[in-house]
Amino acid sequence: MPGTVNRQILLAARPVGAPRPSDFKLVEATLPEPGPAEVLVRNIYMSVDPYMRGRMNDRRSYAKPWEVGQPADGRAVGEVMKSNDPRFKPGAIVSSMLGWREYFVSTGEGLTPLDRSLPLVSYLGVLGVPGFTGWYGLKEIGQPTAGETLVVSGAAGASDTLVVQLGKLLGCRVVGTAGTDDKCKWLTNELGADAAVNYRRVPDLFEALRDACPKGVDIYFENVGGAMLDAVLRLVNPFARIPLCGMISQYNLETPEPGPRYMMNMVGNRVRMQGFIISDHFDRYPAFLAEVGSAVKAGRIKHEVTVVEGIDNAVKAFLGLFSGDNVGKMVVKLGPEPR
Ligand code: NDP
Repeated sequence: MPGTVNRQILLAARPVGAPRPSDFKLVEATLPEPGPAEVLVRNIYMSVDPYMRGRMNDRRSYAKPWEVGQPADGRAVGEVMKSNDPRFKPGAIVSSMLGWREYFVSTGEGLTPLDRSLPLVSYLGVLGVPGFTGWYGLKEIGQPTAGETLVVSGAAGASDTLVVQLGKLLGCRVVGTAGTDDKCKWLTNELGADAAVNYRRVPDLFEALRDACPKGVDIYFENVGGAMLDAVLRLVNPFARIPLCGMISQYNLETPEPGPRYMMNMVGNRVRMQGFIISDHFDRYPAFLAEVGSAVKAGRIKHEVTVVEGIDNAVKAFLGLFSGDNVGKMVVKLGPEPR
């Protein structure tokens, strides 16, 4: 293991507008021997996430920018191969923030042992940060009650598939938006959404959402922004709640779009719109894991992943988030799962 070649991906350039493959570089380095109190981990899965687009910019944000010429990082799940740290035995499965590489040597800081009775890949999706984000945003900010109408944009993605299913379990009418007819069919046929709108195909987004939400919108779980937010703001009911989770339609714009319009509807309807960053709420992760982990084990929650193979394809997987290549959570498989 040590002495073998470790492939990792660096940020090569800061993008202007949409990121390109040339903004990244795959490099090889020799894997060192773990020192005293260190562990060597082989990554099995790594996450690619929309928020990483912000980390490519040199701009102050809640997540530290990646440095040009330095390895990218992000969530990963791996296997401890060698250990000089009694807290981590060889064979243990751990999560880390050291994705975008095949192996790493660590002091153990930031490594979390994982329960192997749950699917390993789910720790990057439904049971990881994306699922936790959906759970927190819907329950704490959305505060759904039975009979309300919940609209989820980007509904066939990682966080959002959980939001759709939780909304149904809580008795809401759930309407999802997604970018293909197949995703929309999957949302209604497999996840139980009451209606789904293909935002790329409908002639008028507002009219399509109005038809899908005959009683208006009580909760809008916002992942997309732009024209989608405008359309929903025209449909909000009195005392609607809008958890602002993300706005992927804006991430690659060089100049922000004007808007949103229809904000006045929020005044008359006393609507509450609230942004949140999930890392502020990690104290709630155990409660989330207990609830959603047992629902996943019992088969009450479906979790879908799009798995791209190999570190050579990690950049393609990341860029694919902006063209909707994923259903459920997009992950990159860097090596086999242990038996
Ligand atoms: P997803 O798995 O949902 O992947 C992104 C999806 O966004 C794509 O599959 C694509 O689906 C859709 N999309 C891409 N470009 C556009 C566009 N221009 N307009 C509309 N839809 C688009 O990602 P996540 O579930 O991981 O993240 C969802 C959102 O939540 C993101 O905005 C992310 O930044 C945010 N987030 C926020 C967190 C927080 O703490 N606030 C934490 C984690 C995520 P389609 O085919 O439907 O276009």
